Amino acid sequence: MFMKMPLPDVIPVQHPSVESRNISLTMLDISNLHPLASGNKLFKLAPNVDDAINKGFTQLLSFGGAFSNHIHALALYGASKGLATVGIIRGEPEYASNPTLQLAQDYGMQLHFVDRKTYRLRYQQSYLDELARQYPTAYFIPEGGSNALAVEGCKRLAELANRTLGDIDTLAVACGTGGTLAGLVSGLKANQQALGFAVLRDDSLASRVDELLAGFDIRGSYQFIPADYGGYAKFDKALLDFILLWLQQTGVLLDPIYTSKMCRKMLELIEDNQIEEGQSIGMIHTGGLQAWHGMRDKVVALGGESAWLRISAGIHACQ
Ligand SMILES: *Cc1c(COP(=O)(O)O)cnc(C)c1O
Repeated sequence: MFMKMPLPDVIPVQHPSVESRNISLTMLDISNLHPLASGNKLFKLAPNVDDAINKGFTQLLSFGGAFSNHIHALALYGASKGLATVGIIRGEPEYASNPTLQLAQDYGMQLHFVDRKTYRLRYQQSYLDELARQYPTAYFIPEGGSNALAVEGCKRLAELANRTLGDIDTLAVACGTGGTLAGLVSGLKANQQALGFAVLRDDSLASRVDELLAGFDIRGSYQFIPADYGGYAKFDKALLDFILLWLQQTGVLLDPIYTSKMCRKMLELIEDNQIEEGQSIGMIHTGGLQAWHGMRDKVVALGGESAWLRISAGIHACQ
């Protein structure tokens, strides 16, 4: 499956402070490599789905928020492989009519809503055992798809980045569960580093990445950079303006939750002289544009109809 993929676009990012410090900043856009699983989710899901099929499973089960890119990809990609899907969704059943979950159901996903307290149990074996009794034929995939197979898949992403971007010092990615970062780290060369831009405040992120990397031969290094800008999925006028300016200057639409915060923080780091001069940096556009469909009202409230027109034109240009 990875063999058949088109090569991703490479977009140079021009910015006065980038040029004045002799930094090379490029973006590797993997957002539209596959029509059904956007960005990093393809790299994480594909090996899991292959494993499920090889083991004879006919149903996939995983966990996510009500606007989750992972749930979206699981529903669409799973259906394309002939598998039934179950989404354990954090929140109220009212969310079932939002654009993400509506489409997931159109692709056959069965939704199972749980309150926040129950959702917090998603890594606990006793809760997983209980779910396994309810869904005895399901292949379980953790939240965000992040497990050892996903790390293998995202190792391929590091290889793809190295092949496509040439000689780079640093690979940058936005982190949610950290599975994608772990995969990139597993594929780094000895003199390379990865930067993980954490878009949510989660004390367990570093230990989870450590755990995912257990057993891999790590040659490069990595560090986390807080980039939540007030909290996960917090979206304000400043972020919208940043996204619109980025779209105008590069032609690339960022997503509202992950890549926009990574890019904003990256430019701030460069402006603050936190990035070594002469570095060559590749940022990965991990996709997630589907999340915009649930944000129309917010965008209009913050930036007016014209802002929404530019965003929605960007979504369609990318699909
Ligand atoms: C899920 C997602 C991430 C985070 O990936 P993790 O492996 O969970 O850290 C980053 N960017 C986008 C667009 C995503 O959808």
